[in-house]
Amino acid sequence: MTPRFFNTLGRRVEALAPAQAGKVGLYTCGPTVYNHAHIGNLRTFLFEDILRRSLEYLGYEVHQVMNLTDVDDKTIQGAHAAGLGLDEYTEPFIASFFEDLATLRVQPAQEYPRATHHVAEMIELTEELVARGHAYEKEGSVFFRIASDEDYGKLSGVDVDQVVQGDRVASDEYGKDDVRDFVLWKAAKPGEPTWDSPWGPGRPGWHIECSAMSMKYLGNSFDIHCGGVDNIFPHHDNEIAQSESATGEPFAKVWLHSEHLIVEGQKMSKSLGNFYTLKDLLALGKDPRAMRYLLLSVNYRQKLNFTFEAIEASGAALRRLDEHRFRLQHAVESGEAKPRVAELCEGLTSDFGAALADDLNLSAALAVLFGFIKETNIVIESGGLGAGDRERILTALARVDQVLAVLDPSQWTQASAEGPSDEEIQGWVDERDAARRRRDFARSDELRDRLAELSIVLEDTPDGTRWKRG
Ligand code: AMP
Ligand code: ZN
Repeated sequence: MTPRFFNTLGRRVEALAPAQAGKVGLYTCGPTVYNHAHIGNLRTFLFEDILRRSLEYLGYEVHQVMNLTDVDDKTIQGAHAAGLGLDEYTEPFIASFFEDLATLRVQPAQEYPRATHHVAEMIELTEELVARGHAYEKEGSVFFRIASDEDYGKLSGVDVDQVVQGDRVASDEYGKDDVRDFVLWKAAKPGEPTWDSPWGPGRPGWHIECSAMSMKYLGNSFDIHCGGVDNIFPHHDNEIAQSESATGEPFAKVWLHSEHLIVEGQKMSKSLGNFYTLKDLLALGKDPRAMRYLLLSVNYRQKLNFTFEAIEASGAALRRLDEHRFRLQHAVESGEAKPRVAELCEGLTSDFGAALADDLNLSAALAVLFGFIKETNIVIESGGLGAGDRERILTALARVDQVLAVLDPSQWTQASAEGPSDEEIQGWVDERDAARRRRDFARSDELRDRLAELSIVLEDTPDGTRWKRG
């Protein structure tokens, strides 16, 4: 079945038509490794996992590339503040990211290129842009000339005259010919990691990283490019501008963007301080399997409102699935196979596939699954399993679990029941004190709530906050 997706480029639903029949090249913008990923970031990575697994379910061979942004303003600032080299600083966050992916049973991409290992390719692409008149050098930095690109902004539909490059514009970009231009190469600043280039020592800008790495691994034109909706402008518009101006060929054909995970109406983000990492939630005893279920159960183009009740509801949905499996395992088979069971199994695998092919309609796919659970329960309860029916049902469930990866409880180890250590609790208490001192009440309240959930009693004293387990 040919899947149809909402392509941000052109804003319409289109049938997928890969360049090579049966094969899909997929580029997914990866994490900036200056901190632990929060579960908002993980929602986007999980959406990409579901996309990849759905394409495989529908018979495609997928080549997925996810970059690691290990050099940019944030990683450099973080390393500087910690007094560490860039690699030394990013290494634990890279490890933490892979741990989170494994916890959530995200299938690994075939490639995880790091920006710092591909600076030569970024320089080459920048040189090409200069040679073709799309970029210019100023005092050791190189900028992309937006006015040289006729269809600049075609992804977001931004008004080019009003363009202000988003929050990743350094305040040091003086001397540009046009304020709208964005940086491809940044001249060296004291204390920063640098690489040699035709324009002197410096480092790449963020956007050129993804253009260079995607085209290196997937070719100048490839099938699908993904990210969160905040990547659409300027990051992805800039990637298109750089890549198409340098090669003269169309860049990615289909662009898919997942909506944000929100908390009380606001995007979960590091800067708002309203975030949880996966490890925070595991420390609270939350089940990673329920987390995966929650993150995949809301369609990717809808905002996902994160609440603790929603994790509980996901746990309850999983219990229904587990009870079904238990009943199935204990059901007695007698007589010949039941045609009804074969019919239900066929219906499950084909209707589930149809829902995925409909722009990854996971809520419809889960409705198909729960319909199947209900109908097979009726067959089991009426004593109706025949020879081989149990295996037939388990095989159909295993097939849809190639996408969901939550159905089989034996595949999951439970989250630690022990809860957080004294050191972890002390860390949160200290962090709450620090947040209150800088009047960041959103963060301090959030930490207070987290501690309250763990029955930690806080006592404010003139010497700081004391705590004990309640
Ligand atoms: P970053 O590590 O900041 O480069 O972000 C990694 C990915 O997470 C990007 O694709 C973002 O679009 C995505 N992202 C950031 N915040 C959220 C959020 N609250 N919900 C969903 N995705 C997010
Ligand atoms: Zn990117």
